[in-house]
Amino acid sequence: MKHIILTLCLFMTGLLCQAQQTTTPELRAEVFDLIDLDTPEMAQVKACHERGDDKGAAAALLKFYKARTGIVTPDITDVSKVKISPQHQKWADDAMEHRFFVMDSHEPYHYGDDINWRYWPVQDNELRWQLHRQKWFIPMGKAYRISGDEKYAVEWTKQYIDWIRKNPLVVISKEEYEIVDNSTLKEDAENARWAWRPLEVSTRLQDQTQQFQLFISSPAFNAEFLTEFLVNYHKHAEHVMGNYSNHGNHLLFQAQRMLYAGTFFPEFKRAKAWRESGMQIMNTEIGKQVYPDGGHYELCPHYHLATINIFIKALNVAALNGFRDEFPQSYIDTIEKMIMMHADISYPNYTHPYFSDARILKKDEMLRNYRNWSRLFPENQAIKYWATQGKEGSLPDHLSKGYLNTGFFTFRNSWDNDCLQMVVKAGPPAFWHNQPDNGTFEIWYNGKVLFQDSGAYVYGGGEEIMQWRNWFRRTASHNTLTFSDRDIQTMDSKTLLWQPEGDVQILVTENQSYTYMAHRRSIFFVDGKYFVIVDEGKGKADGWVNLHYQMPPGKTTGSREDMHFHTEMTDGCNMKLQVFGPEGMGMKMEEGWVSSDIMAKRKRINANFHAKKTANEPIRFITVIVPNEKGGNEIPISASFIGGYSEDSMKLEVKVGKDKKRILEYQL
Ligand code: MG
Repeated sequence: MKHIILTLCLFMTGLLCQAQQTTTPELRAEVFDLIDLDTPEMAQVKACHERGDDKGAAAALLKFYKARTGIVTPDITDVSKVKISPQHQKWADDAMEHRFFVMDSHEPYHYGDDINWRYWPVQDNELRWQLHRQKWFIPMGKAYRISGDEKYAVEWTKQYIDWIRKNPLVVISKEEYEIVDNSTLKEDAENARWAWRPLEVSTRLQDQTQQFQLFISSPAFNAEFLTEFLVNYHKHAEHVMGNYSNHGNHLLFQAQRMLYAGTFFPEFKRAKAWRESGMQIMNTEIGKQVYPDGGHYELCPHYHLATINIFIKALNVAALNGFRDEFPQSYIDTIEKMIMMHADISYPNYTHPYFSDARILKKDEMLRNYRNWSRLFPENQAIKYWATQGKEGSLPDHLSKGYLNTGFFTFRNSWDNDCLQMVVKAGPPAFWHNQPDNGTFEIWYNGKVLFQDSGAYVYGGGEEIMQWRNWFRRTASHNTLTFSDRDIQTMDSKTLLWQPEGDVQILVTENQSYTYMAHRRSIFFVDGKYFVIVDEGKGKADGWVNLHYQMPPGKTTGSREDMHFHTEMTDGCNMKLQVFGPEGMGMKMEEGWVSSDIMAKRKRINANFHAKKTANEPIRFITVIVPNEKGGNEIPISASFIGGYSEDSMKLEVKVGKDKKRILEYQL
């Protein structure tokens, strides 16, 4: 009997759950408090509402929105011209079976017939957060528009409502959490940390404007659904506005999307406040987050690029809806500087270094960017050149270029695919996406990247994931100097010399990497052919000093006899590196990795040259890197200092292959 009662109870609970979690939309009358009913177009809605006929009011509101024209986003200016890529079609079709595309680095997982929005198959934080960006919703909308098949619209409305029902916005403070004796409430609060993170909320805030445009014509977008949609949308906007991030790219994303919200739904009473808030933050932050030289202060090429597009998106939504004048000229000039900086640190194949949390960049994406940018800056000949792949416009009149505020420096001998280019990162203190890597570099030679930055691999997650994050972030996984393999404590490089012209071009940068050891790195770009790097550790530190170089994956050979590495690749992109260090210098070949994207990595060698430093005595290493087409170990290299150590000058002689002996020197 007991068993029967228990089963009955469970059955009843199940029914109750199902009843609570229906995906059928309900009329949400609170919408009439959120919309400004005192405008001429809302007259009918207001009349119905005031006489207690909310059904009629909702129907009138739906009629208004189905007929509304004139408000557009830069994403969809004409719904009749929407196209869909095969990939997006697949995301849409997979989503019909609850197989959701969340992000590139994870296969689309099945989230259950009854969707489990808390399912977390791999403990990668991004997977849990980004599920709530609902990336398959817009593709479903496009699939609907193109095919006219109602099934997409019906399923979208169901999933939309299902999400609302199962992801309540429950906020419990830490103190409250300890005393709350309700596991459902606790679980909801824990889930809300993922589902309602302001960055994800802002993504939905933006993307739902497109979903609205794509689905509004469907019979499934009925009056009840409209009220659910608008109430949910309003809650999103208010949540972002009340929970802006303190700084960084998150804040920019949020502000730009508030601008969207305020522009796209001017019918809300709060729309003006949303728009003004977004606008004010964009105008303030562009001054704060972008250095005078055009570099974004997170010192990460990926976020630098993302930030350019956030600023432009805000400008475009303003332009399309008649308030571009609210952005000053300085805002537009800053965007142009940011684009030019990105171009200078980019390679001829339109990709950029994997510094900080940057990752693979696709040429198609960059060509699309340049075409957009060229429309915004039609006078800029360089942007035009890259937008048209050289058919129109012209290249900048400089080759090497330094961005001294941001600490990004590019040496290059041409803009062509077979050029030799080095990008150095040695900047000021920076924010979250930055890594402790001062002095590191990448080289492009003859169509490929050498000494590629290890990348990021993951952003955060469980213990194992965090171990990986720390491996990719750590100083020793870069091309720079450490004290005993430890992470540097201070990231604040000072540029002591930048000489970007002539046969011998020079960068001298210094960072007080540790309390007891400063690292000075001097880089000479000689005859546009090879690089000579002098690393000096100075200060009270007493112990091992390590010089790390990340070797290219593939056929790479190292030798302790003369402390060199060379590659033998068949693609015409090879290098020989040789280190001339102090007496007793050793070399270890350690495990190295390079990550082009989240959860993608390739094995390689991390070469670790090491020597003992005595307190108060400087330690010095010379590294010569000679990129070459043929590969192998045929190029003889020699290098040595002329004279002893000096705080304000440097002199050395270098001979590479058959080239004449070069004296390299500078005086600070
Ligand atoms: Mg890195």
